[in-house]
Amino acid sequence: MELTQLTIDAIREGLAARKFSAEELVRAHQGAIERKDKDVRAYLSLSPERALEQARKVDRQIAAGEKLGPLAGVPVAIKDVLLTRGLATTCASKILKGYVPPYDATTVARLESAGACVLGKTNCDEFAMGSSTENSGYFTTHNPHALDRVPGGSSGGSAAAVAANMAVASLGSDTGGSIRQPAALCGVVGMMGTYGRVSRYGLVAFASSLDHVGPFGRTARDVAQVLQIMAGRDPLDSTSADVPVPDYVAALGGENDLKGVRVGVPKEYFAGLNPEIGANIEKGIDLLVKNGARRVDISLPHTDYAIACYYIICTAEASSNLARYDGVRYGYRAPQYEDLRDMYRKTRDGGFGAEVKRRIMLGTYVLSSGYYDAYYLKAQKVRTLITRDYLEAFEDVDVIVTPTSPIPAFKLGERVDDPLQMYLADIYTVTASLAGIPGISVPCGRTKGNPARNEPPLPVGMQILAKHFDEMRLLQVAHAFEISGGFDNP
Ligand code: GLN
Repeated sequence: MELTQLTIDAIREGLAARKFSAEELVRAHQGAIERKDKDVRAYLSLSPERALEQARKVDRQIAAGEKLGPLAGVPVAIKDVLLTRGLATTCASKILKGYVPPYDATTVARLESAGACVLGKTNCDEFAMGSSTENSGYFTTHNPHALDRVPGGSSGGSAAAVAANMAVASLGSDTGGSIRQPAALCGVVGMMGTYGRVSRYGLVAFASSLDHVGPFGRTARDVAQVLQIMAGRDPLDSTSADVPVPDYVAALGGENDLKGVRVGVPKEYFAGLNPEIGANIEKGIDLLVKNGARRVDISLPHTDYAIACYYIICTAEASSNLARYDGVRYGYRAPQYEDLRDMYRKTRDGGFGAEVKRRIMLGTYVLSSGYYDAYYLKAQKVRTLITRDYLEAFEDVDVIVTPTSPIPAFKLGERVDDPLQMYLADIYTVTASLAGIPGISVPCGRTKGNPARNEPPLPVGMQILAKHFDEMRLLQVAHAFEISGGFDNP
């Protein structure tokens, strides 16, 4: 039995039947990391003792016949923007080098109390700003399907770790697509719940009105099981919603779940994308229809303004959130300076990378007096229009299906010098973030590749969106799509 390819259900059964121990499972993943991560570079840091201690605890519970947590023994990876008590948390930024948090993010704490074993912290774009991990202050993660290509971002390390079987599941954060887009580029499942569905306590803030924590897994069912543990009200996060969490896992049925589901297909999401991706998504939609779903062609007319709107709001919020890195409270401080102001300046100049600086400047600009009304306030109004597009669409449809990314994994270095090109990679994901609705990306076949040009087939991702708090429907459709063969070859 290959211990690094198991689903969460298979782990539960295997542990109960004593086919393997939790410690063996963790060690198998540590072995995989040792073998593969020098090429993939998904992890920024490892926590071998923390993982093994937790695994031994699970093994003792099994030996004593105690009831196990729902994620007992499951090896997981955590994006390095989530605080982990006693384990360095850097947001892939030099400014947080050496910062060791005194507490755990709620999501991490919930996973560990359910029995999950934290293998380590994963690489990402600095402060989750980017779409490729190339903005990491440390190194770039490589796509396990093609090592000369990006894994997507910003949660590229978490996606790559799961894709390369170096973790069963992982956590990422999604502000404008940072879970869904790397999931698509790495060929795994990645999900963002409704804004407020999952606690943000202990998630280092980038753009607070857009930030979400969410899971990656290799199957829709694994993702449902991790979301189940994380979702629900947290008194430590005042924006977390007090809405009951249904049993997502029990709700997963078969292909029958697709009968009568109205699938909205927005025309704005099928223009100007890589034609192979468009063709795969069309085939994916046909498969849903073959299993009883009904296709409804719709329009989300304000989509064109989404990128501009998102990059005004997220930079505005980032400029405010990142003011706290002053060389006094966290991490790095410039070694030499003249006075306090000079210390701030040198610390921030040396600690932040180019993209973070660009966003702080843009955000400060759109919030400044005289420009606030023209940019920030205007963007807030557009955000409302984008949200309304969705609310109106969901009067006629149950889910909306789109490509996750307009392009497959691009080559390392191909877009770094052109921030606008990089921003355009988010074109299909930012709208759901602005509206606060839940979204999932599932694998939907691959591109053909081109052996003559040494291009391997690359994963394609299909995005499914639903109305606020209808995560259950998303997971049902994703699972039904998976078991009808959609992931491999729609
Ligand atoms: N790529 C987008 C950005 O750079 C989204 C990032 C994210 O979701 N954290 O802002």
